[in-house]
Amino acid sequence: MADNALQAAILIVSDTASQDPSSDRVGDTLTATISTEGSNNWGQPVIKIVPDNVLEIQRAICDWTDGPNWVNLVLVSGGTGFALKDNTPEAVSPLIHRHASGLVHGMLAASLKVTPFAMMSRPVAGVRDKTLLVTLPGSPKGAKENLEAIIKLLPHACSQAAGANSRSLHAGGVKKLEAEAGVSSPAASKADPHHQHHHHHHDHSHSHGHGHGHVVPRAHTSPSERPQQSNDPNAGPTRRYRESPYPMLSVDEALQLISQHTPEPTIIEVPVTTALVGSVIAEDVYAGEAVPAYRASIVDGYAVIASDAGPNTKGIFPVASITHANEGGTLTPLEPGTIARITTGAPLPPNANAVVMVEDTILASTTPDGSEEATIEILTGEIKPHENVREPGSDIALGSLILQKGDVITSVGGEIGLLAATGTQTVKVYKKPCIGVLSTGDELVEHNDPRPLQGGQIRDSNRPSLLSCLTSWGFPTIDLGIARDTPIGALEQSLRDGLRGVGIGANAADVIITTGGVSMGELDLLKPTIERSLGGTIHFGRVAMKPGKPTTFATVPFKPSSSAQQQERESKLIFSLPGNPASALVTLNLFVLPSLHKLMGMGTGMGTGSHKRRPPPGGAPVSLGLPLVSVTLRHPFPVDAKRTEYHRAVVTASRADGRLYAMSTGLEGVGQRSSRVGSLASANALLVLRPGSGKMDKGALVEALMMGGVVAEEDEE
Ligand code: AMP
Ligand code: MG
Repeated sequence: MADNALQAAILIVSDTASQDPSSDRVGDTLTATISTEGSNNWGQPVIKIVPDNVLEIQRAICDWTDGPNWVNLVLVSGGTGFALKDNTPEAVSPLIHRHASGLVHGMLAASLKVTPFAMMSRPVAGVRDKTLLVTLPGSPKGAKENLEAIIKLLPHACSQAAGANSRSLHAGGVKKLEAEAGVSSPAASKADPHHQHHHHHHDHSHSHGHGHGHVVPRAHTSPSERPQQSNDPNAGPTRRYRESPYPMLSVDEALQLISQHTPEPTIIEVPVTTALVGSVIAEDVYAGEAVPAYRASIVDGYAVIASDAGPNTKGIFPVASITHANEGGTLTPLEPGTIARITTGAPLPPNANAVVMVEDTILASTTPDGSEEATIEILTGEIKPHENVREPGSDIALGSLILQKGDVITSVGGEIGLLAATGTQTVKVYKKPCIGVLSTGDELVEHNDPRPLQGGQIRDSNRPSLLSCLTSWGFPTIDLGIARDTPIGALEQSLRDGLRGVGIGANAADVIITTGGVSMGELDLLKPTIERSLGGTIHFGRVAMKPGKPTTFATVPFKPSSSAQQQERESKLIFSLPGNPASALVTLNLFVLPSLHKLMGMGTGMGTGSHKRRPPPGGAPVSLGLPLVSVTLRHPFPVDAKRTEYHRAVVTASRADGRLYAMSTGLEGVGQRSSRVGSLASANALLVLRPGSGKMDKGALVEALMMGGVVAEEDEE
């Protein structure tokens, strides 16, 4: 082994040391051990300190294993005990591609010679990609002893892990290797004197307090308590199910489960701004101000004192004052026998009770310099009290109900207008769910990657199309990128990042939508990852529909961080949609939208507003999602023998007979194939074609779920 050829990194996992790096002693201890016991194989190790936080641990390790800062060996010290906050093994295990239980046994055996408390340590070791990962206890002494137990063997393990030719490495046999490593077989080695004076306690010198700031999905049951149907990804392709173990549900059953497991909407109080558009009102709103707040003129003209008694407004009157619509100060009361010029919307001076339109007057005389009106002749005697006057509160009475719980604030502007006119400062609405979108698959390439595709590569079209659809629905979104199928752990990491929100101040997703990885391949990891790694529950994994059969819906328990308690939902939703682009968009519309509607509070009102929706096909107790209409087929449509088909179609409104007509976006051959994203390119509706034999005839009436607005029919013949 060349001198100092191997690079090691030390990760100190400690809440205390991460706050005060000077309190750490493990870094120096391990550096010294590597230098004295490492037989010049190792360069100066890099050291990093992170708190007891799964994500931060994983991120630090991956920085050393997956990128340009690559190292041969990562030693992770701390967080391996049984305390609640100890989660280093949980953080490291999913990153390991190949476990090295030999090293674990070696460390435990050495420690057990010193103290039975070694049993209180939960070490893990293994290879991630080309890097060896080993966890060590958090106490300097324990860390040192464990490292000493294995350090002689690490150069060999690391070179092999990094891809060295094992035949040449092993050329001289085990004895040669032992000699090189400076170790010997048990027969030759009596007790290692090095260990004898040690009293071993794996105490956590840093572990004081709770310090649970991080938010990590936590299961309430242990995996053994749950029936798990997903494949064990470690079992390999030969042990995977050859037929999906998930029962096939009907669309209605699936919708029912979604409705049942979608949490109730959360209420937030927000300022009245245009950002409210699309939100649902969570609490009745009453007018805090009357509109108008004063007696206002409806016309340009002259304020007068009218009387029901008779025609007294006719004649010539001096113009006593002028009021404009922007008048803020106090007004001089109008004397009987005088009038006041007034503009539309301006407040009437006290005593005035009606306004004469300027059209009913003529100028009688001007001021001496000719610039102003001195007297005006009113041509009519018919002006009655209240004429051309808006009384205070006549548009909106003070304290009247202006918006109701369940009302949607539309982009038409009427609801914002009411809130603005009444000076409403804040309003209670339901928090819109934030939706993370994740693509999965080793074959995927960013859609805007300029390089030509190679081999089995495919452009990721699902993410841009799902994100734009969700944005058009008015939901905040998070682009979670592409999760690779390999290495195992990448998908889990992306899901955790999405559920928790990555980076300071980053949004956490309430709902994650994934595409791909739900078919029957051995790399279809979604179900196992949700069940086995995130402790989630899969409510269904197969639906009798076309396209979209493998659609999967799960919930993941989630412990809100204390600071954001009322903002975060207790359970988060994962919709794992099929990878085929048409299937993904169809199932997004059919299954995800009703759930998002429920989360954003639609349907919570009395059902009088624009949000009232007819139930979807089958009359499931979900009154949300796409609006359902009946349409007439323009041509025959094939139907599936077993599964309800959601046929992508264009629905037009006929000017001739006022009816809605449907035409397929593609019938022949590949037309409705689920991989054909083009089947949705112009579609504004999904026709609900029930299973049957043969076809539906031209002229038949079928249900259609409207995804977009109805198109006006082009003029024919
Ligand atoms: P899977 O369920 O992962 O086997 O994916 C089913 C099919 O959908 C495969 O042909 C994938 O290549 C394709 N697919 C998966 N994800 C995407 C995506 N984001 N964009 C386009 N096609 C995809
Ligand atoms: Mg895939």
